[in-house]
Amino acid sequence: METVKISSLEEFSVEKYLKVNPFKTDKIIFNVYNFKPWQALHMHKHPDNDEVFYVVDGEGIFIVHDEERSISENSAIYVPANTLHSILAGENDLVIISVQGPTPVGSMLMDNFRYGCPVCSLDTPVTINTYDGCLTVCPRCNIKLKLKKIDGRFEAEETKESPPTIAWV
Ligand SMILES: [Zn+2]
Repeated sequence: METVKISSLEEFSVEKYLKVNPFKTDKIIFNVYNFKPWQALHMHKHPDNDEVFYVVDGEGIFIVHDEERSISENSAIYVPANTLHSILAGENDLVIISVQGPTPVGSMLMDNFRYGCPVCSLDTPVTINTYDGCLTVCPRCNIKLKLKKIDGRFEAEETKESPPTIAWV
C-alpha cells in the first residue's frame, strides 16, 4: 500500500507555486499545489479531464468559468472537463490537492484572463465574463480599478468609481 503525508509534500517557492505529484496511474493523477501568498494558477482548462480540488490549508479565490468564490480549508471544488478555472492564493500559504482523470491530462492555457495591479503589481486572474470597462478591487491592496481590454489583454488603472459589488470579501 502506498501512503503519503500531505504535510511532507508542502514545499514552497517564492518564484512560483510548486506542484508535487505523489501518485499517477493509467487512470488518475493526484497533485498537491503549494502556493505562497498571492501566487496564482492562471486560467486554463483540460479538454477531456475532470478535476476535483480540495483545500488542505489556507484561503484564496477560485474561479470556474464565470464564477468567482472565496475558498478556504476543508472546501472541495469540482471542475468539469473543458471548463476554464484559476486560483489565487490569499494572504497565507495555500495548500490544495487536485485529482484529475482520466489520464493522460491535456491542458490549454488561456492566459488573457488576468490583470496586473498598477499599485501593488499583483497578477490577478479574472472570470471569463470580465469586459472592457469592468470595475473591480485589487484583492491585495484594495485599490479601486477599471479594467481596459487592449489587444485582447486586460490593463488596470486606478479609478474613483465604485464597483457595484466587491469581488473579494
Ligand atoms: Zn493591488
